[in-house]
Amino acid sequence: MSKSIFEHSSPGRKGVGLPPRDTDTPLDKIIPQKYHRQSAARLPEVSKLDVMRHYIELSHKNHFIEKGLYPLGSCTMKYNPKIHEVLARHSCFTNLHPYQPESTMQGSLELLYELQEDLAEISGMAAVTLQPSAGAQGEFTGIKIIEAYHKAKGNTHKTKIIIPDSAHGTNPATCHLVGYDVVELKSDAQGRCDIDHLKELVDENTAGFMLTNPNTLGLFETHIEEIAEIMHSFDALIYMDGANMNALLGIVQPGKIGFDIIHYNVHKTLSTPHGGGGPGAGPVGVVEKLIPFLPVPMVSKDADGYHLDYSHEKTSIGKVHSFYGNFAVLVRAYIYIKMLGSEGLRRVSENAIINANYLMAILKDYYHIQHLEYCMHEFVADGTWQKKANGVTTLDIAKRLLDKGFHAPTVYFPLIIPEAMMIEPTETEGLESLDAFATAMIEIASEAKDDPDMLRTAPHTTPVRRVDDVRAVKQLDPIFKIEE
Ligand SMILES: *Cc1c(COP(=O)(O)O)cnc(C)c1O
Repeated sequence: MSKSIFEHSSPGRKGVGLPPRDTDTPLDKIIPQKYHRQSAARLPEVSKLDVMRHYIELSHKNHFIEKGLYPLGSCTMKYNPKIHEVLARHSCFTNLHPYQPESTMQGSLELLYELQEDLAEISGMAAVTLQPSAGAQGEFTGIKIIEAYHKAKGNTHKTKIIIPDSAHGTNPATCHLVGYDVVELKSDAQGRCDIDHLKELVDENTAGFMLTNPNTLGLFETHIEEIAEIMHSFDALIYMDGANMNALLGIVQPGKIGFDIIHYNVHKTLSTPHGGGGPGAGPVGVVEKLIPFLPVPMVSKDADGYHLDYSHEKTSIGKVHSFYGNFAVLVRAYIYIKMLGSEGLRRVSENAIINANYLMAILKDYYHIQHLEYCMHEFVADGTWQKKANGVTTLDIAKRLLDKGFHAPTVYFPLIIPEAMMIEPTETEGLESLDAFATAMIEIASEAKDDPDMLRTAPHTTPVRRVDDVRAVKQLDPIFKIEE
């Protein structure tokens, strides 16, 4: 392991020159004498270059998209153009105050208005709120809208929401949070909603149906219009988890095939760097009849310009975010959409789909794949062959990938596929990097046969070896200690 910044320290070496300290400042008087430092702080004494190297080295211990392929299924870890960062940090955006008069922030309101319009167009919905700050909060907003819709209609008997067993974990969690009972729908042999089972489950008490599409197996749900018809005949609403819109841009408008509500994951599909819990955005689109329930304010436009519009405040579910959402994230989405245009957005999804299918076609001879038809932007392979023949698990395969310079896929999800590896290469990878990843996976399949112990003890080359993740959660100790 490399040296810490403290071990690089050399007495007297300096990175900055500070003027001698004045010990008679107002602050010295305010802070009681007993709190004044008596001896120098133990800080590393290093040059600027030492510091720079230290941080560059630290950053390289992590994995990031600029370092290598990051096929974390469902998370859409694509490359995000750096120009978006530059523009989102522009002082004309960062110096805005949310309480500024409308007339002084017309440009920013225009940006939000156009983004609302563009996201409505892409999803085929009537209107979009930009407020939610993540996918899960978009779900919460959408399910609150379902609740408000039924309340307004006096549908007090509607207590349950149907969700497929392939759903993302946030879907049932969201419904519970709003207060609905979750009813689980089985997947059929093709990995899609079992329509016969759906017909058994749905009744007058059904408030809604929540569907991830493409689903977590990377498959497009084919019976949407039929599902929507069944749901609507019980006055239940149908919600699409649109976190996987990276497969549908310019190809399918969910609002046009029967969905009533959808959320986007801006930080997945529309280019905001994510991972590590940074800010995101989960705009929610709805059909016409649900507009009165959207959070306020929306941004509207008339002959005088752009306005923060509170006109449906009385029927709205209320605010779900302070002010107008995560503005800087929305700026990135706006730029991404405008730079690509409708043709470009469609190419994003087409290439995402082609890349996933290319990898699946290569890997199917080396790893078991339950659903072998064409996939959308991702597919689910699994480690069951290796487990049975060599006693090697998906976790071992995932850890070995780290040695080969790749991030692991999403593993053990979806839950309905044993030893699952959910692989999403995204559209920003070229042929060479897809081939390099396929080669690594093929090598691992043969290592599983020839040297299973080496896989079980992987990773071997990373700064931290295999951690005991249960202990890491229960006895987390992130503090660096210097040996005295
Ligand atoms: C990522 C994801 C979510 C949750 O989105 P967050 O922004 O992480 O809250 C929900 N559903 C699906 C299918 C996802 O992939």
